[in-house]
Amino acid sequence: DGITLERVREHVWEIPQEGEMRVPARVLASEPLLEQIGDDKTLQQLKNATHLPGITKHALCMPDGHQGYGFPVGGVGATDAEKGCISPGAVGYDINCGVRMMRTNLTYDDLKGKEEELVDSLFANVPSGLGGGGVVEEGIDTVEEILARGMDWALERGYATEADLAHCEDEGMRPDADPDAVSQKAKDRGKNQIGSLGSGNHFLEVQRVTDVFRPEVGEAYGLEEDQIVVLIHCGSRGLGHQTCTDYLRRIEKEHADLLEDLPDKELAAAPAGSELAEEYYGAMCAAINFAWVNRQLIMHRTRQVFARVFGRDWEDMEMELLYDVAHNIAKKETHTVEGEERELYVHRKGATRAFPAGHPEVPAAYRDVGQPVIIPGSMGAGSYVLRGGDESMGLTFGSTAHGAGRVMSRTQAKQEFWGETVQDELRDQEKIYVKAQSGATVAEEAPGVYKDVDEVVRVSDDLGIGDKVARTYPVCNIKG
Ligand code: 5GP
Ligand code: MN
Ligand code: MN
Repeated sequence: DGITLERVREHVWEIPQEGEMRVPARVLASEPLLEQIGDDKTLQQLKNATHLPGITKHALCMPDGHQGYGFPVGGVGATDAEKGCISPGAVGYDINCGVRMMRTNLTYDDLKGKEEELVDSLFANVPSGLGGGGVVEEGIDTVEEILARGMDWALERGYATEADLAHCEDEGMRPDADPDAVSQKAKDRGKNQIGSLGSGNHFLEVQRVTDVFRPEVGEAYGLEEDQIVVLIHCGSRGLGHQTCTDYLRRIEKEHADLLEDLPDKELAAAPAGSELAEEYYGAMCAAINFAWVNRQLIMHRTRQVFARVFGRDWEDMEMELLYDVAHNIAKKETHTVEGEERELYVHRKGATRAFPAGHPEVPAAYRDVGQPVIIPGSMGAGSYVLRGGDESMGLTFGSTAHGAGRVMSRTQAKQEFWGETVQDELRDQEKIYVKAQSGATVAEEAPGVYKDVDEVVRVSDDLGIGDKVARTYPVCNIKG
C-alpha cells in the first residue's frame, strides 16, 4: 500500500530514504515471508521508525516480523545513546519477554508413557493464567531486591546455581536497574507473580531434539538427537506491562515536542540524556531483572516436578540451563558503524541478540562457537536453537528473529480454530500433550496462527546472522 521495497540482494529488501526518514529501512525476508509481512501495518511501522531521532544505519525488520504497538514485532532499531532517543514502544510492553532452554540427559524413550503425568504435574505446579500467584509470594521489599539484583537474588536464595547465572544473557543482572524508577503500582502487580507464566502466548514446553545440524556447535551446547529439553517463554508480567504504560504516558506528556515530529503517537520517545530517558532506562533494566527471576523460578519448579515424576534428583538428570535470552529489550551497546565506534541504544522488540563467536559477551563455555539463540515455532511445529552468526554485527546490530511470528490476529484465530479440537488433533496425530487454562488460549495460539518457522530460520541461516544448530519438537506443553 504505497510502500515500495527495493531488492538489495537475496533476502534483503530496502525502503529507500525519502521525506523525513533519517535512514533507509530494511526487511530481511524471503519472498514468501515478505508476502505475509506486507499484509498488515509492519512496513508502515518500520518506515515510521526511521523518523526516530538518532536512528543509525537502518531500521530493521527480521524475517518473523509483524505489526506491533508502534514498532514492529521482529524490529531492531539502534539509536544514538547521546544524541538519539529511547522509545518504550520499540521495546514492547512485556519487557524482557524471552526464552530459556534447559537441557536434560533424558531421552524421548525415558519419557514415553509418562507424558500425561508430566504435563498434568507441570500444569498443577507451575503457576499460569491470570491470577493464580507465583512460585513464591513476597513483599514489596523483596520485589525491590529482585528489581535491583535479578538472578543474584535467586542465587542467594537457593533458586539458582552459579552455572545458571553464567548461562544467561547479561548473567541475569542489569546493573543499571533503578527500582525507585518503577512505580508502586507496577511493584504491586509484580509481587504475586514472581515465578508465573502468565497467559496467552507464554508457555512451558517439554521437547525432544530431532536434528543437530552443526555437530561441533551442538556438542558445545550439549545437544544430541532424541534428548529431552525444556523451553520456557515468558516475561515480566504485570510489572513490566505497567512500567511500559507508566513511561509511555509520561513521555507523551513531557516530550510532546518530540512526539509532534513523529508519524505515530505510539513511537513516543524520550531524548537521550533527558531525565526521563535515564529513568525509563533504569526502570526497564529493573523489569528485565524481574523477568529473569521469573523464568528462573519457573525453571526451579520444573526441576522439582521432573524430580518427582522421574524419581531422580535434577542434578542427576543434568537439568542445566543451556541459555536464557531476552527478546523485548533495549540495551546500551557499542557497535562499529562505518568504521566508527558508536554508543547506541539497541532496541530489540521481538528480536533476539545473536552475538557471534569471539564476542566478549558470549559466555565462556560458548565463546568459540557463538551465542545460543532460541527460536520457538509453535505448539505443533519445530523450534530451533541457532548460534549467533558472523554477519550479525554488520547486518543487524547483532540480532536475529525471535520466533515464527504471527500471521493471524487473536480474534481471527478464535474464528478459525476451536481449542479442544486443536488439542485432540495434536495428541492423536502428533503425540503432543497440551494443557491450557482455557480453550480460547489454545485457539489463539494454534499452530496455524504462526508463520513457517523453518522458513524464518532458513533466512537467518542463509544471511549468516543466526546459524541453525538444532531443531526440537514438542512433547508436552502448558499454556496460560
Ligand atoms: P512472542 O514473544 O512474539 O509472543 O512469541 C514468540 C514466538 O513463540 C512466536 O512467534 C511463536 O513462533 C512461538 N510460539 C508461540 N506459542 C508457542 C508454543 O506453544 N510452542 C512453541 N514452541 N512456540 C510457540
Ligand atoms: Mn515473547
Ligand atoms: Mn511476552
